[in-house]
Parts: sequence; structure tokens; C-alpha cells
Amino acid sequence: MQHSRIKPNFEPGIFPALFIRASMKKHIVYILTLSAIVFSSCHRNKNTEIKHEQSTGRDTITVIDSAFRQKVRNEHMVLATLFQQTAAEYRALCYQAFNIGRYMLDADLADKSIDKHRIIVLDVDETVLDNSPFQAKSVLNSSSYPDYWDAWCKLANAEPLPGALEFLNYARANGVSIFYVTNRKDYLKEVTIQNLKAKGFPHADAEHVITRSAEASKEGRRQELLGKYHIALLFGDNLNDFAEDFEGKNVQSRFAAVDNVCKKFGTKFIVLPNAMYGDWENALYDYNPRLGDSLNFEKRRKALKSF
Ligand SMILES: [Mg+2]
Repeated sequence: MQHSRIKPNFEPGIFPALFIRASMKKHIVYILTLSAIVFSSCHRNKNTEIKHEQSTGRDTITVIDSAFRQKVRNEHMVLATLFQQTAAEYRALCYQAFNIGRYMLDADLADKSIDKHRIIVLDVDETVLDNSPFQAKSVLNSSSYPDYWDAWCKLANAEPLPGALEFLNYARANGVSIFYVTNRKDYLKEVTIQNLKAKGFPHADAEHVITRSAEASKEGRRQELLGKYHIALLFGDNLNDFAEDFEGKNVQSRFAAVDNVCKKFGTKFIVLPNAMYGDWENALYDYNPRLGDSLNFEKRRKALKSF
């Protein structure tokens, strides 16, 4: 008996709302239910079609357009955003990062052989400022970066991550300078300074907030600072905040790059959690921002390790 399989075949940019494969034989009730939904939707909106492929024996459901599709296209971001906004564990991880930072800074301050001026280098987004409201907006509006990003930054009201202010003000009180090396672009520099200043961050000024003029890599900006100062610690939520060696690599190579310098984590490199976005996600999509929702969906699924 021929098996009929339902396979998603969504256009780029279209969320595969119906991505269930099932055997007609084994799941007849389920298929009937699904078909009822599909056909009723088709009948109502004329935006869903089913094609039967003779060669494979599969039915392909194509959702051409629907309000539902729009509504759920960012569904994969919901839990990560809630983790940042509601998990006390996230809060604890932030405190943990800055507590370790303080411990290591004390050790560095005790090293009298260092004659250069001490600095701490931090990323901004998801390292000292919480942008989860921007992420929530993207989920609720089914939008993507850069939509709403400038508007969010211009509010200059992102909250400090737990522990960040206390740690950085402690460092400042001990004569350490703070440099914020961010990939926010130059035109957002003023509002970023405004935000940091309003929340009480030390050294929130034009000299210490270094935005992105050209390339995304922070290596050039780090090296410039390294030429003048002793970098006691680096803080970031993305491996690219720490070293060039992590940039543009696939998942396995990123693992290997981390393993290569494993002793630096918690001693020189302090990592903040960010499950919402980052190069860890870009690596899943082969650093291709134009794959579209459907291919991104498939890439995520294929990256899962099951048993
Ligand atoms: Mg960041």
C-alpha cells in the first residue's frame, strides 16, 4: 500500500506551520484532522495548497501566506527571551559572571608587576545592557532585526544586567578604566552613552564607548586598546567579544576554538549567557542572513542531536 507523507515545502520567509510527517496508514485519524484544518483554511483564505508528488508519494503542503504563519514565525525565540526575562537562573548566572570578575580583578590588582594602566573591556548588548524587550517586540510583532532596533536603542532605557553596575563601579573605584566595545554602529553612539550614563555605568563617555565604524570584528579595536593598556578582563555574551580566533566558524570549530583556550574562561574571559541570539545561532545558518524562515527552520532541526 502506498504511504502518503506530508512534508513541509514552505517558501523562503514562510514559517512551516504544518511540518508534521505522518503515515496515512498508521495515523489516519490524525491526517483526517489535519486535512480538515488545511482544507478549511484553504477554503477560507485560499492561501494553503496541497500537491501530491507522484514520484515520492508525498503530499506537500505549501502555506503561501497566512496570519498564523506571521504570528508564529518567531516562536523559536520565545523561550530564550523568557529565560532572560523570567528565569531566576539567568539572573544568578549574571551575578556569577560579575562575582568571578571581581575575584579575578582582585587577583590582577594584586599583581604589582603590571605597570600599564589597567582596563576592563566589555561588550554592551547582553553583557551590560538587557535588550530582551527588543527581542520580545520582535516576537510579538513577527519582525526581525533591524526592525525596531534603532527605536529601542534611542529610548536609551535598557536595564543593566544584574551585578554589572556594582562590579564596574568597584573596578572604577580601584582605578581601573572601563571600555565598552560594541558592535552598535556609530550613529547609535550618543544614545548608547546616554543609556549607560542614565543607568549609572562608569566611564560612559565618547572615549570609552567604542562603537562599530567599519568591520564587525572587534579585533582591531581590542588590539588598539592592548597597545596602550593592560586588559585585566574581557566580558561578552559572544565569543567574538574575546578573540578573533572564534570568528566565522562552524559549530564544531567553535567548540574546538573554545577547547583550545579553555583555561581563559573565568580567568581572562568572562562569558554572560545569551540564548536569544548571537554567533552561536549564526553558525547554525552558515552565517547566511538570507536563508529565510523556512531554511532556518530546517537548519535548526537538523542541528538537533537526538537518539
Ligand atoms: Mg553582545
